[in-house]
Amino acid sequence: MKILVLGGAGYIGSHTVYRLIESGNEVVVFDNLETGHIEAVHPKAKFYKGDLRNRSEIDSVFDKEKGIDAVIHFAANSLVGESMTNPLKYYDNNLNGTKVLLQSMVAHGIDKIVFSSTAATYGEPERTPILETDPTNPTNCYGETKKSMERMFYWVEKAHGLRYVSLRYFNACGAHISGKIGEAHNPETHLIPIILQAAQGTRDHISIFGTDYPTSDGTCIRDYIHVTDLAQAHILAVEYLMKGGKSDIFNLGNGVGFSVREVIEKAKEVTQKDIKVVEESRRSGDPAVLIASSDKAKTVLGWKPEYDDLGTIIKTAWKWHSTHPNGYSK
Ligand code: UDP
Repeated sequence: MKILVLGGAGYIGSHTVYRLIESGNEVVVFDNLETGHIEAVHPKAKFYKGDLRNRSEIDSVFDKEKGIDAVIHFAANSLVGESMTNPLKYYDNNLNGTKVLLQSMVAHGIDKIVFSSTAATYGEPERTPILETDPTNPTNCYGETKKSMERMFYWVEKAHGLRYVSLRYFNACGAHISGKIGEAHNPETHLIPIILQAAQGTRDHISIFGTDYPTSDGTCIRDYIHVTDLAQAHILAVEYLMKGGKSDIFNLGNGVGFSVREVIEKAKEVTQKDIKVVEESRRSGDPAVLIASSDKAKTVLGWKPEYDDLGTIIKTAWKWHSTHPNGYSK
């Protein structure tokens, strides 16, 4: 297959590009390198620097690259906290960017897309594990823009016949098994990389945001899913669309929740390092518990997570962090 990956220099995008190339596909990457890293782009992928909000930049990729079978779309901002203080950035990049992309795809007759959605579309769930049919009431602007993206695809399909798969990720983490690519955000806000930075000494401590949640130890519970398992789900989703599968939405998680304290304890065990912990107040926009039911992805797409053990997930992340203490910078 020939696949255009938007945001292929980012964390989940770069791992998906590796997986696509490792399984024999041709890959074109388009990324504005605002949060992505050129070093993360697989050397066998063809790279275009561009911003989705500029119609001419994405048009020119479709004009030059003939025979694209499908698009995988990761090019969006994804930080809950930032989306609460700067919502318009999220409306601009996530929604405006997707609108321009869809205009360009419709104009070029490209009719299949797989895109990143999120557990944040659900908001505070009424029950766990969460099913795709459960209500979506986002508690943060990031989740709201992703929910709106899903609706945009829904209406565009009705008008133009463009089929889509929306993948609602729970907490992406871990790194490529080789340790060549991994998670590198600047600033870093995600739990596992911050814990590992505290373990390796590039950060003083890990702050726990909120110890008064209605959970067993008072800290938030999340469903941590390995980035390579997410990557594999994208490939299966493209294959599903190629075989004529109908537009649909799938959760991607392991179906098991770990509290912030449990993740810290597991990281201590894996790294054999003492990690300083500071308890702080809640972070705005965080639901208490998010755990997925991914039965639908397993049944319909044939998805089988390989790295579903938290210790294994942290081990792969530690391999990356301990060999790249400054991420992709030298
Ligand atoms: N968290 C924390 N300290 C940190 C970063 C995150 O306590 O320095 C908590 C956060 O409040 C949430 C969980 O860890 O409950 C996972 O947060 P992350 O930002 O990794 O992912 P999110 O769930 O927001 O997508």
